[in-house]
Amino acid sequence: MMTSARQKLTAIRDYLKFAHTDRKITLSGPRWRSRSTTILRFHLFTGISFVGLLFLSCSETRSGEFPNVLLITLDTLRPDFLGAYGSNAGASPEIDAFALKSVVFDRAIAASSRTVPSHASIMTSLWVREHSVGWANGSSRLNGEKSLAEVFRAGGYDTAAFVGNMLLGTPVGLDSGFDLYDDDLHDTEANRSNFMERRADESTERAMRWLAEERERPWFLWMHYQDAHGPYVPPEEHAAAVHLEIADEAPLPLLDKNRGKNGVPAYQVRPGSQTPSAYAERYAGEIHFLDAWLGKLLRAVVEEDRNTIVLLTADHGESFGEEGLWFSHGFRTTPDQVHVPFILQAPGLNPGRRRGLVHHVDVAPTLIGLAGLEVPRGSRGIRLAKWLQSGRNLPIRSVFSDIGTEVSAYRGDHFIRVSLRKSDSESMYFSWTSTRNWFISEFSEKQLSSDFEDYLEIQTDFVTVDEQSRLEHELRMRQLQALGYLEVGKEAEP
Ligand SMILES: [Zn+2]
Repeated sequence: MMTSARQKLTAIRDYLKFAHTDRKITLSGPRWRSRSTTILRFHLFTGISFVGLLFLSCSETRSGEFPNVLLITLDTLRPDFLGAYGSNAGASPEIDAFALKSVVFDRAIAASSRTVPSHASIMTSLWVREHSVGWANGSSRLNGEKSLAEVFRAGGYDTAAFVGNMLLGTPVGLDSGFDLYDDDLHDTEANRSNFMERRADESTERAMRWLAEERERPWFLWMHYQDAHGPYVPPEEHAAAVHLEIADEAPLPLLDKNRGKNGVPAYQVRPGSQTPSAYAERYAGEIHFLDAWLGKLLRAVVEEDRNTIVLLTADHGESFGEEGLWFSHGFRTTPDQVHVPFILQAPGLNPGRRRGLVHHVDVAPTLIGLAGLEVPRGSRGIRLAKWLQSGRNLPIRSVFSDIGTEVSAYRGDHFIRVSLRKSDSESMYFSWTSTRNWFISEFSEKQLSSDFEDYLEIQTDFVTVDEQSRLEHELRMRQLQALGYLEVGKEAEP
């Protein structure tokens, strides 16, 4: 953003801060009023309180059969780089084809712009302030909250997860409920040798071997793909496969920090590349690569088994110059960082697009409900399939995105954003239309402000990762790397 625009924004913020004095948020002690209200409303809505297999009869899919369930989370994936969300870069032919047969939610909001808090909300259907991970990214862990995988395992499912991000290793507790939690990573990031990851080809091949095992029970599989996360280094043929409009653009400075404020963050720097489009093309190339492997997986599980539920989303987005931030995430709760793709395919659901707001907390109740199992008490989300099948519009509600120092509450076409960096908080209202477009608005709504105030008063103890388990986890990955282990198809895996 140019200096003049930044000065203008600051002036508008000062003006609105004064104009909105009566709506400023005040932080005070813990209060759980809104939670109990929501729980009551949720259970009235579901109207179900049986256990385990008895829920088969209440399944939102074909009665009498357990569906298989595939949850896909794409790390760092902005929806506007997918054809299904309007991109013409050609980065996602497989996801686009999948979307044509699915329900595509245009307005999905992430719980956070950070990996672990978002995934914890996906797995537990709790807001960031309610689960024991909180807004920390790797230093805290889930500690006893009922997770999606636990529900499926208790309901008679075989469960497995294949994750590609070092932060999602077993120390953060997301492995609870999985029979197999494959977090064996051995590739190192291009610019950060202490960050390990796994790419789409290897994760997919490992998952397909697991799927090919003989089993008599249905399965729940969580696939996490790390590829779109920076640094953007796609295989050459995939970089060449995408086409972005090259605008007349100025080169960006190369920074020595990882934040990406007004320049290319250090961890993203590629020699000889300084223009935004050079990085955007490589980002799209990474998506093209994971899309190809995702396509193999989708064809294997969906086309061969008509009774499979698939939900695809991202843990958060990525900034591409919005408010001067480049190729990074985790610093804000604006649409560039928390608007995510959200695509659901299930037997009996008619394909189409929905404009109603959805959120990470809807993932678990939706998948559990579709399988006919019992949604845990206290879930914050809704069973999307029930709403879709009823023919009604999705409910109007406030949903939250939280990184600790900044929180936004989204409702319809608006959101309120609060900086908590100072002892006194500062709030601003915005309208938004897409990942890229939001603007300061005179809009204000009593319900949104009230919901937000309730949210900010939630106080939960975050649980710290056990240092010994973290060290052991890192040591295990280093050993794997040193052994040259894990070359898919070459090593002695059954
Ligand atoms: Zn992430």
